[in-house]
Amino acid sequence: MKNILVTGGCGFIGSNFVKKMIKDDTEYFPVILDSLTYAGNKNNLKNIDTNSYAFFKGDICDESIVNELFEEYNFDGVFHFAAESHVDRSIDGPGAFINTNIIGTYNLLEISRKYYKEINSHFKFIHVSTDEVYGDLDDEGYFTESTPYDPSSPYSASKASSDHLARAWYRTFELPVIVTNCSNNYGPMQFPEKLIPLMIINCLDSKDLPVYGDGQNVRDWLYVDDHCSAIKTIYENGAAGDTYNIGGNNEIRNIDIVNTVCAILDELKPAENGKSYSDKITFVNDRPGHDFRYAIDAEKIQRELNWFPRESFETGIKRTIEWYLENETWWRMIQNKTYKQERLGENI
Ligand code: NAD
Repeated sequence: MKNILVTGGCGFIGSNFVKKMIKDDTEYFPVILDSLTYAGNKNNLKNIDTNSYAFFKGDICDESIVNELFEEYNFDGVFHFAAESHVDRSIDGPGAFINTNIIGTYNLLEISRKYYKEINSHFKFIHVSTDEVYGDLDDEGYFTESTPYDPSSPYSASKASSDHLARAWYRTFELPVIVTNCSNNYGPMQFPEKLIPLMIINCLDSKDLPVYGDGQNVRDWLYVDDHCSAIKTIYENGAAGDTYNIGGNNEIRNIDIVNTVCAILDELKPAENGKSYSDKITFVNDRPGHDFRYAIDAEKIQRELNWFPRESFETGIKRTIEWYLENETWWRMIQNKTYKQERLGENI
């Protein structure tokens, strides 16, 4: 049995990853460390046998809890998902992003270094990051692993910092770190502040569908399960010290995403007034510093590790919408407790 530390395992991608590791492989025992911020949700672990993982509520910045977990579980790997992850919130309050994304990552790297040298030499540290560190593209070109960093938001700047720390801990201390930079994820259990679940839920609540600016911004979308399978592949076969871009070759304008969500919901759950949900699209003030386009060149992970996404955008978006239709209690609970789909990150 391999004990693995999964930070942020109650968040969107972390919880999908824990499910995947348990389902695909009985070899792994995930130990989740999550401080349960507004984005962390223990309901994301519902339907998983509680004997197949361990959960600890705690902060990745807290040295003592991280040390205790390393001592108790002698980890074979760290999968570092925990982060403040929403660009708009980083505009309203960057402090938490500096703390968790930079200081928290430093803390994990430093404690991993101690245990890697002293105890477990099979260890790998997978640092989960974003394509937003590369900044902004115009109509042409793709991000490769050697694209210079040029982050625009406090979120992407804090992730860029953490990527630099992770690489430095490999180059200076030889800690076997791998950095992954992935495009926008979508799928079940994504917190409804993010574009796709926000649009689904606003449709179902008969609210306006706020599209930033003119809706022409382009993102590259990947179904969450494909991201998780890439991370597992990278842990099992990737080279220490390397970086892998992860993406699905699905460049789509925001306005087209919103229209697609509306069209699928028109079919699956037509509005009571008989109109298309797209009637509710409203263009609102743009996000400050909004990057125009992100596009990942994922050729390296395909060529070197033979990883390919399984889900097309057409199938993935349908599965995602069906999940939100079937799991209304999940998102109603979030609405009642933490988030009522209010606009964030507008006032600077
Ligand atoms: P999320 O916001 O849904 O989840 C983050 C989780 O981390 C939550 O469970 C939260 O409680 C936990 N957390 C936050 N601060 C913590 C702290 N100090 N200590 C312990 N736990 C803490 O985020 P996500 O969308 O699942 O993203 C996971 C990772 O993947 C992040 O590092 C993010 O930068 C990266 N990423 C996300 C995307 C995307 O599209 N969502 C794309 C590429 C990379």
